[in-house]
This record gives sequence, C-alpha cells and structure tokens, in this order.
Amino acid sequence: MLRAPPRALPPRRSGKVRPLNRSVLVSGGNRGIGLAVARAFAEAGDKVAVTCRSGEPPEGLFAVRCDVTDAGQVERACKEVVREHGPVQVVVANAGITRDRLLARMSEDDFSAVLDTNLTGAFRLVRQAAGGMMRAGGGRIVLVSSAMGLYGSAGQANYAASKAGLVGLARSLARELGSRDITCNVVAPGFVDTDMTQALSEAQRARVLGQVPLGRCAEAAEVAAAVRFLASEEAAYITGAVIPVDGGLGMGH
Ligand code: NDP
Repeated sequence: MLRAPPRALPPRRSGKVRPLNRSVLVSGGNRGIGLAVARAFAEAGDKVAVTCRSGEPPEGLFAVRCDVTDAGQVERACKEVVREHGPVQVVVANAGITRDRLLARMSEDDFSAVLDTNLTGAFRLVRQAAGGMMRAGGGRIVLVSSAMGLYGSAGQANYAASKAGLVGLARSLARELGSRDITCNVVAPGFVDTDMTQALSEAQRARVLGQVPLGRCAEAAEVAAAVRFLASEEAAYITGAVIPVDGGLGMGH
C-alpha cells in the first residue's frame, strides 16, 4: 500500500531563472565545447557572455578577456558581464587544459597547472557568479568535467584528478546552495571532436573510440544540449548530478 509522505513536500519555488533572456556566462567560450555551449544558449534567446583567454573573440557574442588562473581577471571579467547583461544567472565552467604525461615524467608543474586551470579555475569563476545568484535567490551552475574523472586515464593523472575534483566541488555546492534555489551539476563528456582531441595521434583516437559503444566522437553541440538542459526550467529538481555525454564509455558513471 502506498503511504502518504511523512510531511508535505515544500512547494516548488516559482524559479527566478527564466527560460530566456538570462545572463549566461561560459568560460573558455571562444572555441570547442565552450563555443558550442555559448551558441546553444544564444540561439535560445539568452544573453550570453564568454570568457576569452587568447585569440579573437567569437562573432556575435559578448566576450571578456580572462585567464581563469588569475583570480583578479576572473573578478574583473564577472563584473564586466554583470554591467553588460546583469547578474549572472547561469554559469558554465568549461575552460580546461591537458598536459598528458605518464607519472614518471609528470612534473609538479604539469600537475598543478592542470589543477589550477580545470579545478581552481572553476572554483574562482563559480565563487564570483554565485554571489549574485544568492542575492537573486536562484541560479544554475554547470561544471564541464570529463568521463576520465571517474574512469581514470593512464597518462592523465593530473587531468583526471582535476575532473574528479569538479564532482566533489559540484556536490558540495549543490548541498550548500540548494536552499537558495541554485542547482549545481556536472556534465562529463567522453571523446568530443575539438582541438583538444585533434592533438591526439590516430592510434590514440582509435584506441579510445574502440571503447565507445556508440563508436564515434561526440559533436560539441551534443555536449551543449546537456548543459542547456541542466540550466533549463525542466531541470529545476536536478542538482548534484553527473550527466555523462560519452557514447556509453563510462556506462553511466
Ligand atoms: P579546447 O582545447 O578546444 O578549448 C579549451 C578552452 O578552454 C579554450 O577556449 C581555451 O582558451 C580555454 N582555456 C584553457 N585554459 C584557460 C585559462 N587558463 N583561462 C581561460 N580559458 C582557458 O577544449 P574542448 O572544447 O575540447 O574542452 C572544453 C572543456 O571540455 C574542457 O574543460 C575539457 O577538459 C572538457 N572535455 C573535453 C573533452 C574532449 O574530448 N574534447 C572530453 C571531456 C571533457 P584559449 O583559446 O585561450 O586556449
């Protein structure tokens, strides 16, 4: 027999995050997955800002110069975005690097540089954006991790550690900020066709793809679709989740 729940569920908040015209900030949004994410939000009618560390800013998007390893630059970039588009309602921490080496050859600098960009960089960005979300009483945080964070990857101890760290960061923030109607989730892509994976040799690509049940790379737009869903009104009750977009590589992990 079904029993009534011991206490009524709290009414769902009206949701300060509206489906369109939100202030969205994407780090590393000048190319690859970040650019696809930024374009997906812009196509849906959001006001999108991207951080751009180097190169030309992408056409048609508001771009702010920012290296996520520099706390001062992150703070200035977020302030610029708030001035242009209003307080950030959706933040996507996407900027990331690899410095692959086997353990014996991995220097402390190789390790800490990857952690500083991928994990601490995400922390710096989210910390800046979350203040406005708390004041507004709502928001969406999405961290771009990797299937390798939970799967592990020989030659990528630094990268996998940084990406696993994002899961702990997201789940802690989900607990800390949930009462403010702020969700925090992780997207964990597998093998995506971008500059990052173009750097691999044919043999490396073939080896990775051999482990992917769907037998192909993801398009960056397929990762963007998951990010956009987690930032949508439909995902209002999802927080602390890790959503794989990996063609089955990690079998749900
Ligand atoms: P790319 O190498 O194509 O793009 C990386 C982006 O991050 C660029 O915009 C780059 O800026 C930016 N970036 C790097 N370091 C910094 C920094 N210190 N400050 C600011 N921006 C920085 O990578 P992808 O698009 O493939 O990857 C995007 C994210 O997705 C990364 O976090 C990556 O780890 C993750 N991912 C990628 C997968 C893949 O198969 N491609 C799989 C799983 C996860 P700049 O142009 O200046 O270099």
